[in-house]
Amino acid sequence: MPARRIQKIVIANRGEIALRIVRACATLGIKTVAVHSTVDRNLKHVAMADESVCIGPAASASSYLNIPAIISAAEVTDAEAIHPGYGFLAENADFAEQIEQSGFIFIGPRAETIRLMGDKVTAIAAMKEAGVPTVPGSDGPLGDDGDRCLAIARKIGYPVIIKAAGGGGGRGMRVVHTEAHLLNAITMTRQEAQAAFGNAQVYMEKFLEHPRHIEIQVLGDGNGNAIHLGERDCSMQRRHQKVVEEAPAPGISDEERARIGQTCVAACQRMTYRGAGTFEFLYEQGQFYFIEMNTRIQVEHPVTELVTGIDLVREQIRIAAGEPLAYRQEDVVLRGHAIECRINAEDPDTFMPSPGTVSRFHAAGGPGVRVDTHLYDGYRIPPNYDSMIGKVITHGVDRAEAIARMRIALSEMVIDGVKSNVPLQQRIMTDEGFKAGGMNIHYLEKRLAEQRGGP
Ligand code: ADP
Repeated sequence: MPARRIQKIVIANRGEIALRIVRACATLGIKTVAVHSTVDRNLKHVAMADESVCIGPAASASSYLNIPAIISAAEVTDAEAIHPGYGFLAENADFAEQIEQSGFIFIGPRAETIRLMGDKVTAIAAMKEAGVPTVPGSDGPLGDDGDRCLAIARKIGYPVIIKAAGGGGGRGMRVVHTEAHLLNAITMTRQEAQAAFGNAQVYMEKFLEHPRHIEIQVLGDGNGNAIHLGERDCSMQRRHQKVVEEAPAPGISDEERARIGQTCVAACQRMTYRGAGTFEFLYEQGQFYFIEMNTRIQVEHPVTELVTGIDLVREQIRIAAGEPLAYRQEDVVLRGHAIECRINAEDPDTFMPSPGTVSRFHAAGGPGVRVDTHLYDGYRIPPNYDSMIGKVITHGVDRAEAIARMRIALSEMVIDGVKSNVPLQQRIMTDEGFKAGGMNIHYLEKRLAEQRGGP
């Protein structure tokens, strides 16, 4: 594809990621248009962007998910491209398609790739064909024939997990331990999937009991060239949501990284993948099992940026402009260790969201500390959106230094006026299991239950 000059980008998102995109554009000399809802006029990136357009009321359905309003904003401001960030419309194939049909550049993969990967059943089939290891499972959607479902589960072996083909955000999944519960679980997951995702298709996988969550970051130029940027370990989760992420993953050897990374690169070449993407795997007893691909920038991308020195958002924009990849595989060298703590406005014990006015805010600083947040003194966190208000990311020569720097950074943070999960993150940073590294995806919830004195 010949290079298409991008001079102005509409940022179809809010909060810390919108600010991150404004910063990347500024380093490239690209102008920005912030689109925002009525309650988001005071967001930091709205003030920093060159222009802003109010696209609707607080409810995301009428603003951040309002495709015609976002495309109109690109039209009236004479922008060339739209960056979707993460969440909202980032993995909506219709959005990508309508943007391109309206003559704008979508900063992300082609609509057909988003569609293929957005349906987990088709994504898994495509990955199997490309030689990516997957979880033993139903190899396709489950039909209505109960006997056939029972036979599939018997062959896979219990426990199994029933998952929605259109699922996301850790929802639409049900674990089944015994045959007696299988058919009922399938029916219930189907109903939930229809209600939540408008797609009743479900499939079955072996439920891995003690896996870690390890994912591979890739970049593709859309012409069949691709590289990987190593892995991230995101096993510290609560309710299938990531809480702490790090790169590289403790205990993964250079050979294992090269092997799984090369497998992902080959899959990207096969689908002429365009943009940044992540292959998510469960990792158990030395084996990787693909679970899904995210066709967008991820919340945890900074840990990869710190260990590789590569600006992933800048690369997304360069690729969208039709430029070749700026790095060859051998240029990607991992240095040191990076950790990210997600900061949420929520009660650190009950996890209840805590919106409101931030009366006082001090970010952390110092060597190896990066704070990505849209907070400032007096900012009012609206109750309408996700409770994540920022991320603290630290980098050190090794994991111990990254953890030490994170402990100091968290102790420096002041967020007054609302509750935050900083105390929880501080507990995690001093936890013996976390410090040892390589814990599985159930570890954090188990520790939280122990601290509550529960089961
Ligand atoms: P989502 O798109 O909702 O994030 P994923 O397929 O990525 O769904 O799964 C989210 C999380 O659910 C995983 O990180 C893991 O904790 C758990 N999970 C999913 N599939 C399995 C499985 N086969 N065995 C064990 N845990 C699983």
